[in-house]
Amino acid sequence: MTIYLDNAATTPLLPEARAAMEPFLGDEFANASSLYAGARTARKAIEEARETIAAAVGARPDEVVFTSGGTEADNLAVQGVVARRAHEGRDHIVISAIEHHAVLDTARWLAKQRGARLTEVPVTAAGVIDLDGLEAAVDDATAIVSVMAANNETGAIQPVDRCQSIAARAGARFHSDAVQALPWIAVKAGDLIALSAHKIGGPKGVGALIVRRGVSIEPIVHGGGQERGVRSGTYNVAGIAGFGAAVAAVLARRDTDAARVAAMRDRLQAALLAAIDGAQATATDGARLAGTCHLRIPGVDAETLLLVLDASGVAASSGSACQSGAAEPSHVLQAMGIPGVEARGALRLTLGRSTTDADIDAAIPLIVTAVAKVRR
Ligand code: PLP
Repeated sequence: MTIYLDNAATTPLLPEARAAMEPFLGDEFANASSLYAGARTARKAIEEARETIAAAVGARPDEVVFTSGGTEADNLAVQGVVARRAHEGRDHIVISAIEHHAVLDTARWLAKQRGARLTEVPVTAAGVIDLDGLEAAVDDATAIVSVMAANNETGAIQPVDRCQSIAARAGARFHSDAVQALPWIAVKAGDLIALSAHKIGGPKGVGALIVRRGVSIEPIVHGGGQERGVRSGTYNVAGIAGFGAAVAAVLARRDTDAARVAAMRDRLQAALLAAIDGAQATATDGARLAGTCHLRIPGVDAETLLLVLDASGVAASSGSACQSGAAEPSHVLQAMGIPGVEARGALRLTLGRSTTDADIDAAIPLIVTAVAKVRR
């Protein structure tokens, strides 16, 4: 049996989510936009999920725009605001240097292909955005500021309330990618907020962008006019129903789960730091997501270590899932000033709600042995 320590990459589908999805994978197959009874059943499930997801981030149901996931939500926020505000002469994008590629690459693409101006704000050694740097970066041409609620590699929680105030003072929209944060902490900051179902026990391929009332964005997917014309495309009814059920289940006991998981994470981290010579934990100075343990292990090549761990039955990561296999050191660790040679030995272990104490007991010696095996 695999010990799954990669919950930041994705999470197992919760039984509540699966149960909510099942009717729409079977008899209830109607298109939610049609005008007969089956369609009304589908529509009702979508609207219930919309209410749950809105409430989870202190939004109103009509502020939820369903998307194909976190990546699309980030693209829609950044591209949608920039396109809408061009006529105001606002063509400046400000992001933290540690954004997920869904924000980072979108912003860089807009700069390269659409003539936008881009400022990437540095982070501290602890992996937290430099607020003075953010303050200095925004100007009266800033269209959007994007700062994630918590980082997917280090788990470092970002001061998004302060970022939102700085953006607002400059007349800029504030977007926050809360894909990793929602399973663990309260999320509410943002004129726009990106969410993803599969990080919180829901299915893959569905997410949402919260677009607060009064915030106007240009669509990036055109067609049938679903989601009030902001995001066209036939509704992923089963996915949306599963997303809503997962959010309801997780939020009902988020704080107790977070405390339990953080205790296991701390035990895992302490045991590995004690047993592995020279290992260092990343971003432990500030607030961190409950499930994240990020280590740098000298003399280890992360990819090799992951293969050995896999063979030992431990599923882990070196950083973000999208980067696995890439030779480039993580842009997040680089932004924190961690030298490339150290970043190459990065090991990200992310616990989830299904992680048990027995998993941690079993994982510790397996990881210590794997490190000893691959160490040069
Ligand atoms: N944003 C963050 C912070 C993430 O960790 C991820 C997933 O890796 C995404 C966005 C992308 O979400 P999705 O996989 O739903 O496209």
